[in-house]
Amino acid sequence: MPLTLHVDGDRWRSHLRRVAETHPGLVPVAKGNGYGLGLPRLARKSDRLGVDTIAVGTYAEVGEVLPRFGGDVLVMTPWRRELPVGDAGYDQRVVHTLSRVVDVQSLAAHASVSGTRPRVVVEGLTSMARHGLTRHELSAAARALGPLRLTGFALHLPMTGGNLTEAEQWAAALQASQLETTRLFVSHLSDAELTELAQRRPGLSLRPRIGTSLWLGDRGALRVAATVLDRHQVQRGERIGYRQRPMPRAGTLVVVAGGTAHGIGLEAPAAMTSLRQRALSLARGGLEAAGLSLSPFRVGGKQRWFAEPPHMQASMLFVPGAGSVPNIGAEVDVDVRFTTTYVDAVEIS
Ligand SMILES: *Cc1c(COP(=O)(O)O)cnc(C)c1O
Repeated sequence: MPLTLHVDGDRWRSHLRRVAETHPGLVPVAKGNGYGLGLPRLARKSDRLGVDTIAVGTYAEVGEVLPRFGGDVLVMTPWRRELPVGDAGYDQRVVHTLSRVVDVQSLAAHASVSGTRPRVVVEGLTSMARHGLTRHELSAAARALGPLRLTGFALHLPMTGGNLTEAEQWAAALQASQLETTRLFVSHLSDAELTELAQRRPGLSLRPRIGTSLWLGDRGALRVAATVLDRHQVQRGERIGYRQRPMPRAGTLVVVAGGTAHGIGLEAPAAMTSLRQRALSLARGGLEAAGLSLSPFRVGGKQRWFAEPPHMQASMLFVPGAGSVPNIGAEVDVDVRFTTTYVDAVEIS
């Protein structure tokens, strides 16, 4: 397989179960590229974990999740009166997030006209400053709900840690408000903060929304590998590739699966442009002196240089010297960010 995410099935599944058991009220987050695993798979896994709600990022993602998950689908991007949500957006199982009083009013009016009673979560504006109502707007939101059914309040906190104080202030504001819900959806509280908040506010039912540490929390269970597609001996000074760049030494070109379409880009170190940098690097004997960039692919246990920038679906690596290189059809490891990588296949053992 070209670019493959290999999953140690037993290990991954037992991690998922452990996270679900230690996080009562867990709401798995399935968005974007499905954390590298794909949204359909995350929807099916969430169903098997037995949770009652899954959270998606956008309305466009609802349709991928609905047929594969039996419970509610919370859309974390707020509903906007200016923006259409598509047909799946008004499915009975969808729960909307509302972050402005005008949106509460508009969705309530929409519901009255269509004779429906959509379920909604109201979001508070935290120090994230992305979306949400301020404390002072809560009562106006409560008054505007009309036929809407309020199923919770949501907080999206920064990832800097130390969010307990802010979460607790919001919990107090919620309990003092006319918003009639005791369910609090929280994003990015640590386990210790969740426990502490649950103890301090026993009247609230906490619903932690978790993506990364659920799906990718046991990195050792996941490995991305690229298939070797071709290899060629090259001489020093020989020109290769789209850019016909001369090779700095003799060695082997290894052509591997995985390119810009998979989200493979030029990785660190950043392009070394200044002459001084190049001279320094040349003095150290590095290949970056020849204008090459370090790739995320590992061949023979070593991170290798791109012979030229990655192509759309393949990359050309330069392995200097006469050492052995893997055969065509073999796999080499790739260090990628799962949330920005689109693999060709996921293989779960
Ligand atoms: C993406 C997202 C999450 C999940 O974040 P992770 O860091 O992947 O756990 C939770 N809440 C909101 C609002 C998000 O957008």
